[in-house]
Amino acid sequence: MYKLENVSKKYNDKFAVKNFSLTVEPGSITGIVGKSGSGKSTLLKMLNFIEQPTEGEIIFEDKEINHVSKKIIRKYKEKIGMVFQNYNLLNNLNVYQNIALPLKIINKEDKHKVNELIEFVGLEDKINSYPAQLSGGEKQRVALARSLVRNPDILLCDEATSSLDEHNTEIIIKMLKNINKEFNITIIFVTHELNVVKQLCEQVCVMEDGQLLDIIENRTKSVEQ
Ligand code: ADP
Ligand code: ADP
Repeated sequence: MYKLENVSKKYNDKFAVKNFSLTVEPGSITGIVGKSGSGKSTLLKMLNFIEQPTEGEIIFEDKEINHVSKKIIRKYKEKIGMVFQNYNLLNNLNVYQNIALPLKIINKEDKHKVNELIEFVGLEDKINSYPAQLSGGEKQRVALARSLVRNPDILLCDEATSSLDEHNTEIIIKMLKNINKEFNITIIFVTHELNVVKQLCEQVCVMEDGQLLDIIENRTKSVEQ
């Protein structure tokens, strides 16, 4: 899905990411873990094509992204769903409307799809509730459903459980495992929480000072339910 070869990103002469190489197989769950300032956000911005590397190559579906047109990059971006730490829900829209929004924007409303995803995240009884009426865990389940509504191939999670307590973190981890398995969506989970990536991910990349310190292979964990 992704192949990063010696990718570096410099801001004002300082490396935010340095010499980073990584392969992400289709259908896999990869964790990127590191302390604040280790380069995770910068890496994520390159993975969703917001930033380009200063050096090195990002190969996405066998194409080097520096050599593809803006139009194709836009197509690539459509394949990516995002989940954030602070949910990024719209407060004046209810659960249904928040989840439906990415479809509404492109004039492809699909009630059936939205309702199926509401069921998938178990929020049928909150369908008309507004974000202010939801717990953190519920908000993140709305955000998760919204991230899937356009059938992405990849889900990028940015500290997706970092605002949640242990119980809700577990619920989200379970849902992500189901999403990976049932919908065959590749997941990249970026966080400072090592315990979460250990439970969720097949491979965990440990970052420090912009560099890849270690890759932990964790195959047995991913098949646990
Ligand atoms: P993390 O997400 O792990 O906290 P970041 O990718 O945000 O790490 O930051 C890595 C390093 O790059 C930090 O030293 C940060 O200050 C620097 N950095 C990140 N983004 C920018 C930017 N837009 N301009 C200048 N420096 C940046
Ligand atoms: P069905 O054909 O009965 O809908 P699927 O296995 O295709 O069976 O889908 C089951 C559920 O998974 C449905 O809610 C569907 O909308 C959802 N689904 C399937 N693929 C994806 C995907 N890539 N992203 C999000 N939801 C999906």
